[in-house]
Amino acid sequence: MTAWRQDIHAHPELGFQETRTSELVASKLESFGLEVHRGVGRTGVVGVLRAGRSPRKLGLRADMDALPIQEANTFAHRSRHDGRMHACGHDGHTTMLLGAAKYLAATRAFDGTVHFIFQPAEEGLGGAQAMLADGLFERFPCDALFGMHNRPSLPVGSFAVRAGPMMAGGGFFDIKVTGKGAHGARPETGVDPVIVAAHIATALQTVVSRNVAPVETAVVSVTRIQGGDAYNVIPQSALLGGTVRAFSRKVMDQIGEAVRRIATGVAAGLGASAEVDLRWGFAPTVNDASEAEFAARICAELVGAERVERHPPLIMASEDFSFMLEKVPGCYVNIGNGEGESGCEVHNPGYDFNDRALPLGAAFFARLVETRLAAA
Ligand SMILES: [Zn+2]
Ligand SMILES: [Zn+2]
Repeated sequence: MTAWRQDIHAHPELGFQETRTSELVASKLESFGLEVHRGVGRTGVVGVLRAGRSPRKLGLRADMDALPIQEANTFAHRSRHDGRMHACGHDGHTTMLLGAAKYLAATRAFDGTVHFIFQPAEEGLGGAQAMLADGLFERFPCDALFGMHNRPSLPVGSFAVRAGPMMAGGGFFDIKVTGKGAHGARPETGVDPVIVAAHIATALQTVVSRNVAPVETAVVSVTRIQGGDAYNVIPQSALLGGTVRAFSRKVMDQIGEAVRRIATGVAAGLGASAEVDLRWGFAPTVNDASEAEFAARICAELVGAERVERHPPLIMASEDFSFMLEKVPGCYVNIGNGEGESGCEVHNPGYDFNDRALPLGAAFFARLVETRLAAA
């Protein structure tokens, strides 16, 4: 597995360009004896493994894409591609699922069907949605679904499993404010969109503080304001942009409604108009309570209950496995990538997946299948 992982690490590919990686995955699955479906969600791959006669079906998912980052590491398996890097550990995720597939295909000590889902383009390009749009769960139905992401700073040999919401849903917004351009010295002849944008940015602070319930968790950040080119010209328009995060569809809807109401209402009150474009790119990642319980039990059998963190903090970042978990109940597990030198954060140019975690992740998937689809 270490050789596979380092080979994938050395040849990182960006979202929907994972041709080498997905071919490597597909040919390995075929060599293990799985039925292989290429091109599910463009560069995605699904491997099907059946044993016995039970109609029970499980889905296991890994992601395959890299990031547009210049790698700073100098070890032998560093990226061979300028400006591309496996900085989120998806090389490790893919390898752990391949390891489980090889073991389960060789032993077949279970009764049912396992769908091995290798997803492209997790890093914001919509790989999960592409697989869903390609009929992923109609073609490969699953009773339950599991995936895994490495976590730096969590020791190797530890897992973290949280029931319920785990990672935020996230989106971006653009607000275009249209006023009326004028001479900077004669504001009475125009409608100043800069002052309207400033009022909107201030008023948007009330969404989290006054609209979202205090026990919920949400973020509304205005991260850019653009308007005007000259000292003596009141411009015709101004633009605001930013990001929003929340842990439930209900709060996401509430935020979307409030941002629209505030932007258009404040603009109208000041004699201008505002157009709001708010796009949710990620759903909140929500683990099914009983599937989380099951996943945590499997982890505890592997490493001991004391090494399974059951109440890790919420993660404000987003993950597109969330869209799959909205269709099929399941659980997303964090696997320790190590502390100290191995504690380098994901998306950092010095990051590397920790190969010592590979057998633990593969064993988690294998034991999960043999337990859930236990032969009678
Ligand atoms: Zn990432
Ligand atoms: Zn990732």
